[in-house]
Amino acid sequence: MSKILPLIELQDLDTQLRDINELLGDLPKKVDKLRFEEEGLINDVKEGKVRLKEIELSLNKAEHQMADLKEKINKLKDQLSLVTSNKQYDALTQEIEYLKQELDEVELKDLEFEEEKETLSNDINEKEENLESLSNDLSVRRVKLEQLMSESAENKSALEKERDKKLVHIDESVLSRYMRISTAREGLAVVNLEGSACGGCGFVIPPQDVTDIRDKDNFYNCDICSRFIYYKK
Ligand SMILES: [Zn+2]
Repeated sequence: MSKILPLIELQDLDTQLRDINELLGDLPKKVDKLRFEEEGLINDVKEGKVRLKEIELSLNKAEHQMADLKEKINKLKDQLSLVTSNKQYDALTQEIEYLKQELDEVELKDLEFEEEKETLSNDINEKEENLESLSNDLSVRRVKLEQLMSESAENKSALEKERDKKLVHIDESVLSRYMRISTAREGLAVVNLEGSACGGCGFVIPPQDVTDIRDKDNFYNCDICSRFIYYKK
């Protein structure tokens, strides 16, 4: 029986397990991210609607103020024709000017509120549409992710069982060397010979060792990264 083959198979299982673990770690984060996005939109829409109500009240108030001011101004203008002295006339025109200025200010504010109202309404509409599609998307994705997660969990336990069976065929000292390298080298302890270089770190292997790796079924470790190197026939 080949000496290196069980190690290659062990590496293959460990790589698959690592991928599954990464996936299992990532999936809940993805669902959380969607949920977070949804909550953000819900909150924005809620706050937007509160502000919209405030604006409506302010607009209402401004409309009343404008009507009041216009009425006052018209009354004063009517009085202008009845005055008998210059002094009275000046006093009235001065008051009219003052009220007109006030009216200008209220009209300006009214305009600003109208603009804000329009922008905010558009924004809310857009967000409500996004929210609707996001909520649909979220529930579909959530179901898919849950499916994927339970499949991955099943896969994982099958791979772990297979791994346990493999371990029986590997010498204990070799296994502990494998584990040490795997831990030090981000889960990759067994690599292919690529041309005449180590498939892990790229170190060029001396020609005699390349021949050995190709022809003999021995354990060979890279001088630089310590990984087991094998030759894929
Ligand atoms: Zn190497």
